[in-house]
Amino acid sequence: MKRIVLMMAITVFPALLWAQPNEEPKDTAWKKVFRESYPVINSLVHTKLDVTFNYAKSQLNGKEWLTLKPHFYPTDSVLLDAKGMDIKQVSIMNGMNKKSLKYTYDSMKLNIKLDKTYTRNDKYTLYIEYTAKPNELKTEGSAAITDAKGLYFINPTGQEKDKPTQIWTQGETEASSVWFVTIDKPNQKTTQEMYMTVPAKYVTLSNGLLKSQKKNTDGTRTDYWKMDQPHAPYLFFMGVGDYAIIKDAPYKGKEVSYYVEKEYAPYAKGIFGNTPEMMKFFSDKLGVEYPWDKYSQIVGRDYVSGAMENTTATLHQESAYQNNRQLADGNGWEETIAHELFHQWFGDLVTAESWSNLTVNESFANYS
Ligand SMILES: [Zn+2]
Repeated sequence: MKRIVLMMAITVFPALLWAQPNEEPKDTAWKKVFRESYPVINSLVHTKLDVTFNYAKSQLNGKEWLTLKPHFYPTDSVLLDAKGMDIKQVSIMNGMNKKSLKYTYDSMKLNIKLDKTYTRNDKYTLYIEYTAKPNELKTEGSAAITDAKGLYFINPTGQEKDKPTQIWTQGETEASSVWFVTIDKPNQKTTQEMYMTVPAKYVTLSNGLLKSQKKNTDGTRTDYWKMDQPHAPYLFFMGVGDYAIIKDAPYKGKEVSYYVEKEYAPYAKGIFGNTPEMMKFFSDKLGVEYPWDKYSQIVGRDYVSGAMENTTATLHQESAYQNNRQLADGNGWEETIAHELFHQWFGDLVTAESWSNLTVNESFANYS
């Protein structure tokens, strides 16, 4: 995560600085509360999602197969994060069969009674059908992120001229659970499969590798993304839009790509083109090879922070866009590109156990 660069605001809107001279951050809990590691009763194992997007309502319809296991003690229940959703069905998979489970839901936490007591040697897979409604959620952001809707529909119905239609997600800190059911804590990690069905004219980006694409008869296409290495739920990402995908030289056989609006396709390598060399430099310095299957970077409209290190799929705000004339004065986004890439090691591969230690992620990323 990188905060929005404030220089622009200071230059253009100096009045903003004086208008609220003594404003305290709204969340002052950090002064008194150490956010210790969240108790681990059940552990995430695997998350498989099949999602479609309702652009008219800015909603996501999801089917989820969530595999968990008791962490240590036997348990007959599981408490999951699911923010502001309509929960349609909660079942447990028994082979191919689904068996309905009893649950309570208070719009933030989904408390599920399992069909029996499971031990730490068992795994179980829940099946959950839901609708995510990010625009109806009442939330506040944090110091570095101005909002926490998790899932963002940009110009979804095309009413704003000169603005493309895009979808992107922002998980950090605990907003991924707005768009899928999970244990939304940094001391949990899960492998991932994503089926995203989108209008065929758009491209998609998610974590891991794009394994297949299937055209549907209704003008949509289903993209299947898969990541076999576990990572924390806050690092899950989906991006959808009318992007050019610029592929740079692979790094040791791994895809390095840049998702930019077509207008910026000629400048993508000018902006991001040092990425393969940075991957080599950081791999050599750390003695740990770049740990993931690919590295993509995407630019989102109206982003709520500076940039975010979603595993293998970093999201940047529009300030990343620079044309050749601007780049001639120096790449104003290079530091952020390096920062987010370094997070692929510190943050994504090695993850702070609790949000109290998030400063460690950020310190390492800045040190890079
Ligand atoms: Zn950061």
